[in-house]
Amino acid sequence: MSDMGDDTVPLLTARDLTKTHGRSRALSGASAELAAGEILAVTGPSGSGKSTLLHCLAGIVHPDEGAVTYAGERLDELSEKRLSELRRTEFGVVFQFGQLIPELTAVDNVALPLLLAGASRTDARAEAGEWLERFGVRGQAELRPGEMSGGQAQRVALARALVTGPRVVFADEPTGALDSLAGEQVMTALVRTARECATAVLLITHDAQVAAYADREIRLADGTVATAGVAA
Ligand code: ADP
Ligand code: MG
Repeated sequence: MSDMGDDTVPLLTARDLTKTHGRSRALSGASAELAAGEILAVTGPSGSGKSTLLHCLAGIVHPDEGAVTYAGERLDELSEKRLSELRRTEFGVVFQFGQLIPELTAVDNVALPLLLAGASRTDARAEAGEWLERFGVRGQAELRPGEMSGGQAQRVALARALVTGPRVVFADEPTGALDSLAGEQVMTALVRTARECATAVLLITHDAQVAAYADREIRLADGTVATAGVAA
């Protein structure tokens, strides 16, 4: 056992995870850890288990075997009630296609998690506006997702993921549907905000340029970690 200070104790740990979907084995002994404030890239070919690992770490999917620990709590053993509370208060998620609510304007999409947490509509919309500003999309505040570019919609999705001050953001191919300029804008905004707020980020990507924004990279192959190291 090493004698590490509290700062180096991982915030989130997956140990020896296995997960099978029907006859398809998504994870076979995958382990990973994420320190507080760390940006970790997860790369690997399509089908290597990246999304399944993210879902297990975020408490969205229960692994068949292995342990997921978040700040000392075993996520794989928690009740659904406690898990959903953790997901709401401690975690933010953003996917390849932002999954914004199409009927709501940008500002109302970002205000929604605050409303769910009990904020008044006025306060929630004011704070959402500040987060849109932070991500360079305040000018789009009253537009619906279908009225924006893909890059703008992803920056709104990031604002929504970060507005509640989560300790971890899970991003599954957040630039996967964007051209390289829009992808750079999304990554720059994500990394800057994560640094400012000391938010840890688990970043899935198949793009080496995107992975280079991370502090560290792990590469999956066939449901397990093939290589780990400092991102290029
Ligand atoms: P990646 O994100 O690296 O592309 P995934 O974690 O999505 O990999 O998938 C890993 C493997 O598990 C793939 O073979 C995939 O087809 C399978 N898989 C993932 N999710 C499901 C599911 N819900 N049902 C059936 N098979 C799945
Ligand atoms: Mg995937």
